Amino acid sequence: MDIADKAQQIIEESMSRKLAEHSKQFTGADVDLDECEECGIEIPQARRDAIHNCTTCVDCQSLIERKAKHNRKP
Ligand SMILES: [Zn+2]
Repeated sequence: MDIADKAQQIIEESMSRKLAEHSKQFTGADVDLDECEECGIEIPQARRDAIHNCTTCVDCQSLIERKAKHNRKP
């Protein structure tokens, strides 16, 4: 396999993964990621057990919540 084939394979894999994640969100099915969708670090099993549909790590979740609060201000 040459480098172009390998690159193409990686692109196809990441696209199909994104599509799968997107369709899960679209259908409203459970979204339970192993890795934070913001920074990509592994989410501890305990956190995933504690929080339904957890898709981010603690750090990113608090950042998102801070941004959401900020956006609600007039
Ligand atoms: Zn994160």
